[in-house]
Amino acid sequence: MSSRVYDELIDLSLKRGFFFPACEIYDDAPAGFWDYGPLGLGLRNRFVEAWRRYVVRYDGMVELDGSIVMAKKVFVASGHLASFADPVTKCKNCGAIYRADRLIQELTGRIVPERLGDEEIYALILENGIRCQRCGGEFGGVERFNMMFKVSVGGEGEEAYLRPETCQSLFVDFLRTYKVGWSKLPLPLCQFGKSFRNEISPRQSLLRLREFYQAEVEVFFDPEDDVDPLRWKRLKDYVLRFGDERCDFREVSVEEALRTGLVSHWLPAYYLALMQRFYELLGVERSKVRLRRLGEDEKAFYAREAWDLEVQTSLGWVELVACNYRGDYDLSGHMRVSGKDLTVPNRNRKVLPHVFELSMGVDRSVYVLMELNYVREQKRRVLRVPRFLAPVQVAVLPLVEKDGLPEKAWDIYESLRMEFDAVYESKDAIGKRYHMLDEIGVPYCVTVDYQTLKDDTVTVRDRDTTQQVRVHSSELRAWLERALSFPSAG
Ligand SMILES: [Zn+2]
Repeated sequence: MSSRVYDELIDLSLKRGFFFPACEIYDDAPAGFWDYGPLGLGLRNRFVEAWRRYVVRYDGMVELDGSIVMAKKVFVASGHLASFADPVTKCKNCGAIYRADRLIQELTGRIVPERLGDEEIYALILENGIRCQRCGGEFGGVERFNMMFKVSVGGEGEEAYLRPETCQSLFVDFLRTYKVGWSKLPLPLCQFGKSFRNEISPRQSLLRLREFYQAEVEVFFDPEDDVDPLRWKRLKDYVLRFGDERCDFREVSVEEALRTGLVSHWLPAYYLALMQRFYELLGVERSKVRLRRLGEDEKAFYAREAWDLEVQTSLGWVELVACNYRGDYDLSGHMRVSGKDLTVPNRNRKVLPHVFELSMGVDRSVYVLMELNYVREQKRRVLRVPRFLAPVQVAVLPLVEKDGLPEKAWDIYESLRMEFDAVYESKDAIGKRYHMLDEIGVPYCVTVDYQTLKDDTVTVRDRDTTQQVRVHSSELRAWLERALSFPSAG
């Protein structure tokens, strides 16, 4: 699937260096691996900074950084070795391989339930007369393909795996973290880092990668504990926006969602609000967000309740955060396979905590933020990402390249570059430079002109309004700090 905006953003990304295919100078580069260029990395770093501010610190979460290569037994316990496998089907004629469930969904609009066996899925392919999209050939049967990347460790070639999700570290590190100082439930652990999935058909650049970034939160809690009054007070009045495939929307407060049974427990209700609020703080309009409850056919078998936070884009609704109430599935699995007691004391009894998970796709969030803020006006393209997320925060430009203006502009640039992500631009006519800087989302352009030589003031041009104000160069740093800071959002 594609769209005009998507194609334009890919064009912009390649042209300006936001992101591009990995190993692109080689013709055997596998699909589904993308590199972040300087601008994409800058944007992603600020996105993660915003996550740390508005999610991690706001809630008082504990962040860890686990190993990417993990022991085989971790995935015996998690169930990934046995069942983290996609149904695939192969064209008998040209050998092309497809994710069977996705192919059926794309061509018929029908969701293929998780529980269907391979033969039942194959029957759907036959019933619907589905043929190879490349050559029109018939498909053979359906079989399972495990999506984990296996690695061989050390001289003995010990079998291990690249983690297919960051959360497994949080489960296996839960007990130690709890014991060494964070001995209180609910205990929200979180991690930002890379995960790996050997997708059959990676596509749409940052939307479906084989190597990707996640920011995951696992909240360990005792379901029998009362509401946490501090958390509840913070967000009980926040308005959640629920929606389904038929785009039937309901906006209700967290408190009411719990009271009316829309969400089954206070803790998921609070954390759904935390996530929705996060995207709203990044400028995503509420009208473009929906919390969609997954049906029995869609959710993982261990999930008691599952929600997707989705955002409306030119490519349709894109899932940005998967929210799963996983019960004690994870800790009981690791307890059984490791033989370690993972229960902890809570209110004078031993409990095996339940888990509510918020699994965020970072790369897709970055793409979606770019798309929602991409504006095409007659002559110019503007990336109107919120100022505090801009990868380049300020550009310093001499009006012309003579009469001492470049020297003065360079001095100003030098005085700013330790503090801000700044660039110096002197080539081309000033209007052309402004257009280029608008395209990469630079919120402020500082221009040194002839008046600067007289009174030491510069013009500061605003990306969104194109209005200019004069600021004394001695006040420039403080002015920019104010204009570029993250909203405090208490
Ligand atoms: Zn074929």
